[in-house]
Formats: sequence, C-alpha cells, structure tokens
Amino acid sequence: MKKHNFNAGPSILPRIAVENSAQAILDLNGSGLSILEISHRHKDFQVIIDEAVALFKELLNIPEGYHVLFLGGGASTQFVMVPFNLLQTKAAYLETGAWAKKAIKEAKLFGEVDVVGSSADKNFSYIPKGYTVPADADYFHITTNNTIFGTEIKHDIDSPVPLVADMSSDIFSRPVDINKYGLIYGGAQKNLGPAGVTFVIIRDDILGKAERPIPSMLDYTIQIKNGSMFNTPPCFAIFTCLETLKWIKASGGVKKIQEMNEKKAALLYQAIDNSKMFTGPVAKEDRSLMNICFVMKEHYKDKEEAFMEFAKGKGMVGIKGHRSVGGFRASTYNALPIESVHALIGCMHEFESENA
Ligand SMILES: *Cc1c(COP(=O)(O)O)cnc(C)c1O
Repeated sequence: MKKHNFNAGPSILPRIAVENSAQAILDLNGSGLSILEISHRHKDFQVIIDEAVALFKELLNIPEGYHVLFLGGGASTQFVMVPFNLLQTKAAYLETGAWAKKAIKEAKLFGEVDVVGSSADKNFSYIPKGYTVPADADYFHITTNNTIFGTEIKHDIDSPVPLVADMSSDIFSRPVDINKYGLIYGGAQKNLGPAGVTFVIIRDDILGKAERPIPSMLDYTIQIKNGSMFNTPPCFAIFTCLETLKWIKASGGVKKIQEMNEKKAALLYQAIDNSKMFTGPVAKEDRSLMNICFVMKEHYKDKEEAFMEFAKGKGMVGIKGHRSVGGFRASTYNALPIESVHALIGCMHEFESENA
C-alpha cells in the first residue's frame, strides 16, 4: 500500500534526495568509495559543502555579510549557542510554544530574559501580537513555525534589535527577507535533510560583542573561520541537504515551493472547516502551512482513536497530534506531494460519511 508520510520530524524528503543519498552511500560519483568512507578534508567533500552553502545563499537570496554554517547538536544546541555568543545583558524572547520555552530556559543561564509576549494562556494556539521589544535588548528571538502547536509567523517581522529566528520547521517553505534577520537556525530534519545537521545563517556584524569566554565548538566566530569544519561535520547529512536544495532549485525555487505549500494547506484547512466532525484548534490568521493540527469536535471526541485506525489502514503515517495538543497533526512539509493531502482529505470524508 502507498504510504502518505505526514511525520512531524524526521519527516518526508524529496524521493530524488533519498535515492541519490542511497547511491552516494554505495559509490560517491563513481569514485569507488562511499560518502561514509571519505575524509571531510577530501576535495570531494569540500565540493559538497561548498555547493550546499552556495545553494543556500542562492535559493534564499542571502546578501553579502552573512555566513552559512552546518553544525552538529541540533536546533537545541542553538538554544545555547545563541545566548552564549550574543547575550551581553538582556535578550527578548517571544514565547509561542514548547521549543520557544526551551530556548528561553537556556538563555536564562546567560543573562536577563524579557519574555515580551506569550500565548501560553491559550495553549499556544495563536501568535502574540502588540508586544514591544525593548530597544536595549541584545537580540529578539522568535520561533517562526511552532511545529507542535501548528502556528506560524508567516511574514518577516520588523525588530529594533537583531532578530534571531528558529526556522527548524519552515525553512525553504517561503521566500525570506534575510536582511531583517541577524541569525536564523534550524535542525535539518523537518524540511531539509536527515537528523544530525543544523544550519545557521548569521550576519557577521552581530558577533564579537559578548565578552565572556566561549568554548571553541560553541563559538560562531571559530566555526566561521573553519568553514563549519572545526571538528568533523556530519558529512552524510550535509550531502542529503545538498540533494534537497538541488530539488528545490529544480522545482522552480522557494517561491514555487511556497505556492505548492499554500495550495496544500488551503485544501486541508478547507476540509477541516467544512467538516461536521473535525475542527482546527488554532487561530485562523496564525495557522501554520507546515503543521496542520485538527481535533474531533466535542460531540465526536470518542471517535478519535477510530479515525486514527481508519486512516492508518489507508496508508496515512504520522498524523497523531503531539500529546500536548491531542487529536491529529498532518505535517505538510515541502516534499509532501499534494496527492497525499488529497488522500488524507478522502479519508476524512469517508470516515465522516460513515460516522457523523
Ligand atoms: C524539532 C524542533 C526543534 C528541536 O530540534 P533538534 O534538532 O531536535 O534539537 C527546535 N525548534 C523547532 C521549531 C523544532 O521544530
């Protein structure tokens, strides 16, 4: 049976990226060696990481004065690296979900944290608005897409201080005005590649201000100087990222990807809004295009498990909602084909006609 992969992360990748990665494990470009078996100092790998950086810059239109890094440690290590490198006295954070809370917790180890807005009062079902970022903050940290709660900041906001964004789950899902950001980071495993590599886009002029000593591995300046190779980088994961970036380019670029994402999300949200059984828990204007949360209406709550089984039987994978929201979550990342969205909607309709 065909599987429709709605996993939240690690999650669906372009088929071509998976196939080319499999081939590179067997034989990298006819070299007779596996990508797993060559030195990161070998020229064949240098070409790979250079091309990945170049495509990152090209596809996101990254201007001069920024560097792109591929590091280990996941987005969670960035929760530490960001304040370690940037927080002198005070930082502003927007509390929009579980990942933002973790970032806030780490930042508090380094200085004062001003939580300028929070949607904790309504289980993070909306994006806070009308907050003020203090002009004396060292930076302002946001999570653009809240993978667990299904909310998203879908445009580039203005900030009076360097803007730092966790874009783990919406990178390359839309064009981004990089000029508005001081730093963007994310784990690759949602929209870009396998687990094990983390991307960081960083504007050079925000560095070198914090005065504390920084351990080498966690120092952006040292990582930049060493071209992401202060230690052995996650070579294979970077290779797969490069394959995904090539696929984005071949698909027509980020703008085209955005159009597809908007189409997929519109279809599924429409099905939810027109449904007798299902409803969306998220404020409409803040709905994520990447992680679409839905639950059974009160009257049908006892049918959730039955729908899960029904959908599984039809090949749907990974639609269980996170335990902090319940219900269902369909992740409609860049690589998810629109056919999978049609299949899920078909499931919902069929289940509804039998049970509502
Ligand atoms: C998954 C996720 C993380 C955590 O990423 P790790 O690479 O596992 O540390 C952080 N932020 C967001 C928005 C995520 O979706």
